[in-house]
Amino acid sequence: MSNIAQLKADNGQYQWHPMAHPAAMKKTRPDIVARGEGCWIWDVDGHKLLDGVGGLWASNLGHSATAVRDAIVAQLDELPFYNTFRGTSHPRAIELSARLVKLMEPDGVASVMFSSGGSDAVETALKLARQYHKLRGEKDRFKFISLRQGYHGVHFGGMSVNGNTNFRRAYEPLLPGCFHIDTPWLYRNPFTDDPLELGEICAELLEREIVFQGPDTVAAFIAEPVQGAGGVIVPPANYWPLVRKICDKHGVLLIADEVVTGFGRTGHLFGTRLWGQGGGIRADLWCLAKGISSGYVPLGATAISSKVAQVFNDDKTGQAAVGHGYTYSAHPVGAAAALATLDEIERLDVPGNAGRVGAVMQARLRKLAQSCSFVGDVRGVGLMLGIEMVQDKALRTPMPRSSDIPARVAKEAYQRGLMVRISGPNLILSPPLVISQTEVDHLCDTLEASFAAVE
Ligand code: PLP
Repeated sequence: MSNIAQLKADNGQYQWHPMAHPAAMKKTRPDIVARGEGCWIWDVDGHKLLDGVGGLWASNLGHSATAVRDAIVAQLDELPFYNTFRGTSHPRAIELSARLVKLMEPDGVASVMFSSGGSDAVETALKLARQYHKLRGEKDRFKFISLRQGYHGVHFGGMSVNGNTNFRRAYEPLLPGCFHIDTPWLYRNPFTDDPLELGEICAELLEREIVFQGPDTVAAFIAEPVQGAGGVIVPPANYWPLVRKICDKHGVLLIADEVVTGFGRTGHLFGTRLWGQGGGIRADLWCLAKGISSGYVPLGATAISSKVAQVFNDDKTGQAAVGHGYTYSAHPVGAAAALATLDEIERLDVPGNAGRVGAVMQARLRKLAQSCSFVGDVRGVGLMLGIEMVQDKALRTPMPRSSDIPARVAKEAYQRGLMVRISGPNLILSPPLVISQTEVDHLCDTLEASFAAVE
């Protein structure tokens, strides 16, 4: 058997894939990615594809950012690994923490705690939120509120605040004290077609839930500035400012899960800067990963506002010791990759490019909702876009899980040279943020042809 045939045969034979049935993966899958360059990838058969997935919302600088590669190699030569427990450190961790805090100073960030990925960053934020309230003497504040359709990773805390039952059912019972409220989702809600009215109603739902639970029992509200995995759901403009006010009114911390939206994807450096006037909404804790190192090496971070940091710093009892951290918190190679990534984000004005070419992509693909009989909604911002496929467009009837239409569209796109991601009824696009206008045109042409082929 040739090496390639062996790879295909072995894929799924020995490895269990995330989010997949182990047995179903035993059959050969075509998309084994062997090589990447710029915004392009090649599968093991040498088939060239534009990477519409960006690795998985992560490869923001594309697949051949020399500066990041060189920083990684230099770090491997200097120090491949050391821990950062109890004050031990290494230069890259120190440099990266200072750099991130400077970058997020306008957002009110004072400190940062590193981890190895997005789920870790969420877990860190949830734990710090509880500890913050305990330090302030509000020991009963342990509950979390989050949004339906939200995605916050796969650890027990993150899974418990996740708003998609598919990721929860097999692992229940989950963390007690986690409650879910309606997402401000314009296309699917029982309330209104008016965005600002929807923003108000959904913000009120948050307040009602806080009051119902008892404000003195609620630790934090966690949400993505724009929902990603749930189908790229962009909240109305007034939602986050209202949420900020409500959280403040009831002493509830606001956690912004920026694992997808952080580092430029929405056209702004951070998703919270999309919302509110004059520089965005200040969260209390931010979850960061993926784009922080452009996916070159796993890394996560939780950014801590001065409001939260101060309570920890002022503690005289010793209870503010953070009993949390990972062997690979601030991995030196990840930190080196992140420092080089931040240089490149600045040098190339990555958020600016995401905003500019993203606007073209959004405008072109929104037309699919008019031209294609099974496209119900096209939504997004910057370089994150979701296309929701439906069974009945007029009635907005959801596409049944058994439908093969989403997979057929993805297959057509693949054959035409475009990698896309299917999540339930949604086709999700999250290409590298350095994608050019010509490449975006190719992406849109290919996708339009793929939908037409299935029509
Ligand atoms: N939070 C959000 C918003 C995400 O989209 C993801 C992953 O896609 C995570 C958390 C979990 O990150 P990871 O898969 O790196 O653990």
